[in-house]
Amino acid sequence: MKKYDYLIVGAGLFGAVFAHEAKMQGKTCLVIDKRNHIGGNVYTKEVEGIQVHCYGAHIFHTSNERIWNYVNQFVEFNHFVNSPIAIYKDELYNLPFNMNTFHQLWGVKTPAEAKAKIQQQISQMHIVNPRTLEEQALALVGQDVYEKLIEGYTRKQWGRPCSELPSFIIKRLPLRYTYDNNYFKDPHQGIPKKGYTHLVKKLLEGVQVILGTDFFDNKEELVAQAEKVVYTGMIDEYFDYCYGPLEYRSLRFETEVMDMENYQGNAVVNYTDYEVPYTRIIEHKHFNFGTQQKTVITREYSQKWDQGKEPYYPVNDAKNTELFNQYKKLALNEPKVLFGGRLGMYRYMDMDKVIEAALDMAECELSYEGTKKEE
Ligand code: FAD
Ligand code: UDP
Repeated sequence: MKKYDYLIVGAGLFGAVFAHEAKMQGKTCLVIDKRNHIGGNVYTKEVEGIQVHCYGAHIFHTSNERIWNYVNQFVEFNHFVNSPIAIYKDELYNLPFNMNTFHQLWGVKTPAEAKAKIQQQISQMHIVNPRTLEEQALALVGQDVYEKLIEGYTRKQWGRPCSELPSFIIKRLPLRYTYDNNYFKDPHQGIPKKGYTHLVKKLLEGVQVILGTDFFDNKEELVAQAEKVVYTGMIDEYFDYCYGPLEYRSLRFETEVMDMENYQGNAVVNYTDYEVPYTRIIEHKHFNFGTQQKTVITREYSQKWDQGKEPYYPVNDAKNTELFNQYKKLALNEPKVLFGGRLGMYRYMDMDKVIEAALDMAECELSYEGTKKEE
């Protein structure tokens, strides 16, 4: 008999949801994390009475009733709606691309005028089958929006020009001909009133957690204690990079407490020209409609990833997808290890998708009828 049914590597959302479900089914779990806090990248910490999103802005949004009901069992969400502002040189625009943006760009007032303006720009370019992000963006929104709001930001974010990036990245951004600054289309959106750490804490209630412990420092000893492992770290690291490293994009955060009530008047401001070195500034109090005397801001810089840095975004282009598929084959030969989360599955996933994947894995692995799935 082993001491635990499951060793869970990673106290992020995936690991925490799986641990919660396993505990509910009477299983014993040990959760470890190399960081000294729970929550993974959704970790929030209170500074000056403000919940600070330590690894970048996190806005919960979903169309999935099952996931919305699931998270609301644990914590209360506020009614925050993400409406970022873009600053390009000395110009200011609403995001996502909508009638406000088009009015600010060209002075147009009606959807017909905006469509005509964009159509006129698109028709000059003769792009038939957009293959790169550049072509996709130009074919979708035309030259002006591309140059002012996409080109510089994307080049900073991904460290390479839009002509060398896959088109799917930009498909995440909505384009609409209404005066609607809501960044997301999902019916459910908000931020946990007491922060995301509170959510993860609730999920991990009654589960043993050891922080500051790297799986690879003590792999044999840790694995020997459990029947199975749920691994949410980097899949290429698990296999000792035997086929070579997968590519990631890293970030650097510069956080500052400011002796003023309101720094930028909005939670998220994107800096879309290439010359400003950071991609965005977030002002944390606005995620919770805070009225504190002070404010906390974070500048987010995108940077090249190399071993030792935090891998924030998988770079899901053709080359890395092929490499990942090789690692996936190795993973299938490890029946006692389940790979999950955005690093274990090498996929950019929003929080709702990560929770859904963890619930699906738990239901399949633990053979129980879990939360009701959507038709
Ligand atoms: P993680 O949170 O990365 O957790 C994995 C954990 O495993 C980490 O804590 C890590 O320390 C630990 N670990 C790794 N290797 C080891 C090891 N060897 N030993 C021990 N522990 C290890 N999603 C949204 O829905 N809305 C948003 O607005 C949003 N904004 C985002 C902004 C940024 C800048 C980023 C990077 C992501 C954003 N996301 C957003 C996505 C969200 O962060 C993820 O969906 C979620 O955090 C993934 O959870 P996870 O458990 O898979 O991974
Ligand atoms: N993007 C852009 N301009 C912006 C915001 C986003 O060109 O002001 C592009 C960029 O390529 C980015 C992608 O849209 O990688 C997705 O943006 P999103 O805000 O959804 O990304 P995330 O918050 O996950 O970094």
